[in-house]
Amino acid sequence: MTNVDTRTYDVVVIGAGPVGENVADRTTAAGLSTVIVESELVGGECSYWACEPSKALLRPALLRADAGRVPGLGPAAAGPLDTAAVLAHRDRMAAHWNDDGQVEWLKTAGIDLQRGHGRLDGPRRVAVTTPDGGTIRLLARHAVAVCTGSTAALPDLPGLAALRPWTSREATSAPQPPGRLVIVGAGVVATEMATAWQSLGTEVTLLAHGARLLPQMEPFAGELVADRLREAGTDLRFGVTVTTAARTGGEVGITLSGGGRLTADEILFAIGRAPRTGDIGLETVGLIPGDWLTTDDSLTVTAAPGDWLYAVGDVNRRALLTHQGKLGAEKTMLSCVGAGRGRYWRILPGTCGRWSPSEMPSVGNWLAISRAVRGPGAVAV
Ligand SMILES: Cc1cc2nc3c(=O)[nH]c(=O)nc-3n(C[C@H](O)[C@H](O)[C@H](O)COP(=O)(O)OP(=O)(O)OC[C@H]3O[C@@H](n4cnc5c(N)ncnc54)[C@H](O)[C@@H]3O)c2cc1C
Repeated sequence: MTNVDTRTYDVVVIGAGPVGENVADRTTAAGLSTVIVESELVGGECSYWACEPSKALLRPALLRADAGRVPGLGPAAAGPLDTAAVLAHRDRMAAHWNDDGQVEWLKTAGIDLQRGHGRLDGPRRVAVTTPDGGTIRLLARHAVAVCTGSTAALPDLPGLAALRPWTSREATSAPQPPGRLVIVGAGVVATEMATAWQSLGTEVTLLAHGARLLPQMEPFAGELVADRLREAGTDLRFGVTVTTAARTGGEVGITLSGGGRLTADEILFAIGRAPRTGDIGLETVGLIPGDWLTTDDSLTVTAAPGDWLYAVGDVNRRALLTHQGKLGAEKTMLSCVGAGRGRYWRILPGTCGRWSPSEMPSVGNWLAISRAVRGPGAVAV
């Protein structure tokens, strides 16, 4: 690189999602000069295509379901939702996909923002391709924190690009409810989006590969959610996979394992998450592009020698939740300022989901995880 603008900071954060913002906020507050690099919108997936819009879509559906169970209120709450009002509220909660407010917050917190795509360029170095095609080199005295998050995983189906399937992004930002939606998946995103779009009048078919919903959790949780989705009108099918899917005109034709066929207006794949590490220069520090970043409990990337590279939030695959990532941000700051490299967690300190007309709050680990960590003696209470 010649004539490249080079700037030095104590900490360089790649990715201004909720976790990167928190890392930057905490390191700045601890007196470390910090720059944050963002290629899309400051606020990340959570603000625009995940937590915020999904919860805005779900709230009316959940309140209506709750009200329907209150004696005397049921008939009054049974009417259809006002779709335009629900979607307008969702748009407001996603800040109309405009990050001015969050950019302003970065300024007030004293954090420098560098727009562009960040890539590691050797130890403690980040090269940013700016929106106008230029390059800026950022040098980190102490640490680089990779907070690039995750993206929707997609199946290996022929003709996927022409199919134009929905991922969590389209499912949380669609301007109108589709008439018929096929959802492939059985986890949180699949069940939340089934609930939300069903409540706005969409005919939803949910295809689960396994025998139950929410397979990571206690069986009763998935059963309860399945009961509620069926009551709301979702067509739930278990033990089924998509073998082919193709878009013809405005319609999607789907072939199922076992030979069944379905037709829909949209198909949503909610089959898991993949790390956003394919193009962040991991190869320049001896790591493999496209891999999740494995860390120790201080969130230092274990395969990168020298204690300078951190992976925080979804990208380390520890717990793909905003509040867990923010907890990690605090740990990272403490490690950066040399205040200790203690354990990140022994048990999940508390998670809570609002996933269907049956909400599933939880504290601590699910039984299967506890048994894996603590042995077969672990019990559910
Ligand atoms: C539908 C849905 C609903 C959810 N609901 C909840 C919920 O209710 N509660 C909850 O706790 N969690 C929820 N989650 C999970 C939550 O969204 C994630 O855990 C959270 O967004 C992770 O934050 P992050 O900062 O690690 O990554 P992200 O939010 O993905 O942010 C990463 C940022 O890095 C940027 N970036 C990536 N690569 C580069 C690069 N090379 N250079 C510069 N910038 C880059 C991206 O543009 C992005 O802004 C939900 C997820 C989904 C999909």
